[in-house]
Amino acid sequence: MKQLPSEATTPPCTLASAVARLGFETIDSCELEKERRIRSLQKVLNQTPAHQKRYKRIARLMAQLAGCRKGERCGGSACPVCRRNDRKKCISSLVAEYDDPDAASRLSFVTLLRQEWEFPAGKLHLCKPRTITDRLRKQLQRMEFRRPIFGGVDLSFDPDRKVWMVHLHLVVDGLTKEVEGKLRQLYPASEHIRKPVVVKSVDYTYGAFSYAIKSFPNCRPSYTDKQGRANTPGKRRRVPEPHHTEFLLWVARFPIGDLKMVRGWKLVDGTISRRSLAEHDQP
Ligand SMILES: [Zn+2]
Repeated sequence: MKQLPSEATTPPCTLASAVARLGFETIDSCELEKERRIRSLQKVLNQTPAHQKRYKRIARLMAQLAGCRKGERCGGSACPVCRRNDRKKCISSLVAEYDDPDAASRLSFVTLLRQEWEFPAGKLHLCKPRTITDRLRKQLQRMEFRRPIFGGVDLSFDPDRKVWMVHLHLVVDGLTKEVEGKLRQLYPASEHIRKPVVVKSVDYTYGAFSYAIKSFPNCRPSYTDKQGRANTPGKRRRVPEPHHTEFLLWVARFPIGDLKMVRGWKLVDGTISRRSLAEHDQP
């Protein structure tokens, strides 16, 4: 897993410094990525019979991406420019909330994995992000844990086993040992998931929030090799085709909000603000 940016020096609390420090993707790099996505979709389209439903879906997504421009943004989940804009908006709202070091010290970065969240290549359409986040919401409700959480549904692709591994990255405000213990019971280890619950302290608040809702799937080999030894992830690699196209067609089906896990926050058009405790568990 990619390491979160570490806290080498205390950064000035401004959005601009946070964005610079995070190496946040630029609008230009996102435009280039958008063009790259359109080109790879075109290649897949050329090999797809026109009568197939998939043909229409690819053509629709290409048209949406091609039509996304300044002043007329598409707002789609498969669009790198719109995902960047949304992420930036979220971080800027959170900057104000966690400006205070005491508030920031309450945060933990939690990653959850589950065997049931693995989908073989070609079967990603069976994954419903809202089912995953609603389930966690109910689990937290049963634990009577009522603290703010902000996070997202993330994907990585294992090129050795050819499976998608869905996971949740969550920035949790006020995680207790008791709740961590209960999560460990609910998210057990399995053959390919050695560490289903990973809890880290948050050294750099904005980095944690930003990573929690990153929009690019990672390509990473199995968590264990054939001898059962732990595999350490290498440098981030792009998910190879045709799998990357499968990801794009999958993610395009959902509004960006469905890919987030938000509890104790109010999310309106990508801008977030505090919500009252009574409203916590409203979907
Ligand atoms: Zn767009």
